[in-house]
Amino acid sequence: MWFGIVTLFPEMFSVATEVGVLGRAVGNGVLDVEFFNPRDHATDKHRTVDDRPYGGGPGMVMMVEPLLAAVAAAKIAAAKAAMSTSPRVIYLSAQGRRLNQDIVQELVLSDALILIAGRYEGIDERAIELVVDEELSIGDYVLTGGELPAMVLLDALARHVPGTLGNRASALDESHLDGLLDYPHYTRPENAGDRNVPRVLLSGDHGAIKRWRRKAALTKTWRQRPDLLTGRKVSDEDVELLRELFDDEPTGGH
Ligand code: SAM
Repeated sequence: MWFGIVTLFPEMFSVATEVGVLGRAVGNGVLDVEFFNPRDHATDKHRTVDDRPYGGGPGMVMMVEPLLAAVAAAKIAAAKAAMSTSPRVIYLSAQGRRLNQDIVQELVLSDALILIAGRYEGIDERAIELVVDEELSIGDYVLTGGELPAMVLLDALARHVPGTLGNRASALDESHLDGLLDYPHYTRPENAGDRNVPRVLLSGDHGAIKRWRRKAALTKTWRQRPDLLTGRKVSDEDVELLRELFDDEPTGGH
């Protein structure tokens, strides 16, 4: 999958693209990440990319022209690298739709994406009107720039690009993928202080382990994120497991 990242700080991305699972995926060509710096498209001798806001007020605004030129360069590169003639352009923004796993699953079907990381007070509104297909937020708080949100999106997507994770099952067996939180995980030693690994996990009984994990996932979701269960279609097996949970603790943990 090809990513064109429009940013004033491409060096920040070395954290995501040179280390660990993502570093390996970039190294072996599973992920192709290119950077487009609006500063390279500035037209004055100071390579200016920001200016004061019309109407006054604090801070600076990213100028529309260098941004549009950087996006245009990214589109040309997408056509060459990924044969993608109209890659979706996403502006990471605190004002966007809140990123979730459903959006990740939908975006990962694309061959190429262009991600714009804003700075200062944000980007000139006309850039949004002219080239942005979608604004995505990583949460209801404000960061100093869109680089970390772009890396969050890149990481969340990369996990689902075939070849990124050694074991593809890992990407499919996680919180939020089927609307529930993940079940608890344990590794050696069997006993830590007065806490023991649940006996069923040592039993070798795969059916019992599967059932225990499903019940544990439902329990965690009910306790920590009951909102995820609201309006959700529940299988007969899940109904039975939830019934057991409520019988075990009649308040369901609340
Ligand atoms: N004035 C903007 C506002 O109030 O919505 C905030 C601008 S913020 C200081 C600078 C840049 O950080 C934004 O252009 C955006 O790219 C990025 N950013 C900040 N918070 C974000 C969030 N929660 N999700 C995604 N991007 C964010």
